[in-house]
Amino acid sequence: MSSDSRLKDAELQHFRKTLLLLHARLRGDVVQMTDEALNRGGEAGAGNLSSTPIHLADLGSDNYDQEFTLGLIENDQLTLDEIRAALERLEVGTFGRCDGCDKAIAKVRLQALPYTKYCIECARLHEGRGALG
Ligand SMILES: [Zn+2]
Repeated sequence: MSSDSRLKDAELQHFRKTLLLLHARLRGDVVQMTDEALNRGGEAGAGNLSSTPIHLADLGSDNYDQEFTLGLIENDQLTLDEIRAALERLEVGTFGRCDGCDKAIAKVRLQALPYTKYCIECARLHEGRGALG
């Protein structure tokens, strides 16, 4: 039980910055992709920007394509939730602690995945169930 695994203020600030950046970037992506996915469906005001050609082949795959895009958005929103939760943990001082076993999460893991709430062992358990990491 050494305090070696505790994060220093500078490190916490670094993670906070990373999380905020990631959050902003993901939000931008989500907005853009939602726009694209929705524009595909409605051609109501297509008079202005009718530069997108519609191929017959595209019509068949359109549904699949849209589902795929929306699937990506869903994933991003889950990630956004994780990031928000991580920022909250930074606020209350529990950042870096595993939600599953209450142990400290390895720093290398936090550096790779700053919004994770599980240590590698708990994450493996959860991945085994087929959910996200
Ligand atoms: Zn754990």
